[in-house]
Amino acid sequence: MYSKGIMSSLEAYRGIILNPTSDEQGDFKGFEMITDGVVVVKDGVTQLAQDIQSVMEMKHDRLTSVGLRLERGVLYQGHTEIGPTDHVIAPGMVDTHTHIYQPTGLGGRLMVWLERMFEKGEIPAKQSVDVAREMARERLTELAANGTTRVIAWPTSSAESARIVLEEAEKLALEVRVSFVAMDQNVPDALAEDEAATLGALDELFEEFGEKIVIIDRFPIAVSSSLRKKLATLARERGVLYEVHLDENQEEMAFVRELYDNRSVVKVLTQDGVFAPGMKVGLAHSIHTNHEDMESLRMSIRAGCQVFIRACPSSNETLESHWIVKGEDRSYRPFPLRDWLTAKAHVTTGTDLGAGNNFSIYKELLEERGRHDEGVPSPTELLQFGALNGGLSFGKTVADMKIMEDCPADFAVVKGAEADESIEDRVEQAADRLIRGGANGPESVVATYVEGRRVV
Ligand SMILES: [Zn+2]
Repeated sequence: MYSKGIMSSLEAYRGIILNPTSDEQGDFKGFEMITDGVVVVKDGVTQLAQDIQSVMEMKHDRLTSVGLRLERGVLYQGHTEIGPTDHVIAPGMVDTHTHIYQPTGLGGRLMVWLERMFEKGEIPAKQSVDVAREMARERLTELAANGTTRVIAWPTSSAESARIVLEEAEKLALEVRVSFVAMDQNVPDALAEDEAATLGALDELFEEFGEKIVIIDRFPIAVSSSLRKKLATLARERGVLYEVHLDENQEEMAFVRELYDNRSVVKVLTQDGVFAPGMKVGLAHSIHTNHEDMESLRMSIRAGCQVFIRACPSSNETLESHWIVKGEDRSYRPFPLRDWLTAKAHVTTGTDLGAGNNFSIYKELLEERGRHDEGVPSPTELLQFGALNGGLSFGKTVADMKIMEDCPADFAVVKGAEADESIEDRVEQAADRLIRGGANGPESVVATYVEGRRVV
């Protein structure tokens, strides 16, 4: 019941429904497809999610209770006909790696680009609430418009910059995870904050925002081992994500070896306690990880550390991160997708703005598919990376992400692209329609919901 004067909202959708299923261990197994289904959301709760045949056979009372009626075999909500559509209804997209205060289009490889970015993005955002708010509003609005429902957002080294992200996300009903970005060395003075300031700001944020706060370690170049050990302990005690950049670029990796007695990034993180059992670690980029480090991560995963690999294809392209340059020679190292999957890491996707230059996870998924010559991910695998593994990062199980009656609405309705008849498997074909449709941008995003709220 709702009190008099409060308008109740009711929305009905019809289209293909792609529902995730899990095995006995709760791991993702595949998608169950309803070729023509109806979903009704009332006051943020999914009241109906059934195939059209079952809906047609429903008793009048049941239909009325969800605001529908049947007239001569045609389904109506009020006076609006709920006819067949080209829509695909599936779990929403999760942007698991993005920066809020990085301008786009600066150019240069990572280490050169970073200096420009600090000067033009994070420093002004840290110094001016208005600049920060404007950038946060613009970024989050674009992400929401492109069908993203959840975002792991990197602000900068101030509690205020994180607070602004949370406030702007709230206006859009986006779910975000955010933090104070730890940086206590090798960054401009305006961004560096010592241990006491960092831990103090994190305490403040945890107190104020609880589970929306995670731990963010920029990378070992910018964070000392002493601070990192404390951050890792804090993440473990709180049971929250530990997010960090890993093996993005050749110069970055060389700089870490210089700073840390020739140890690799994985070694440094491991020895500082980041991959301890019970930790949940998000590793952004992870392109150049060598065999030994991957083996060590595989062992950490087996021992009970959850590892998420945040693939950021368009950013890697823009910053030329795949390229290893030795004098005149250039060699291309592809993103080792299959190796990470073999190691039992969860691959997720990120736009990595403003190193990346696109606001759509659907587009990132197409980019990801495009950069593999062999072991090309299937449409349902891509959907798993973009939606389900992203949800997993937010503590959602596969079962939580199922579109189900009497549950808070949490899904996206997207105008599907035309079917590619060369894809024989019907579920794969539907997932492909969803991803290519979503990649067409905001005009293809019909509606998105997260945790029972409609994303604006
Ligand atoms: Zn990044």
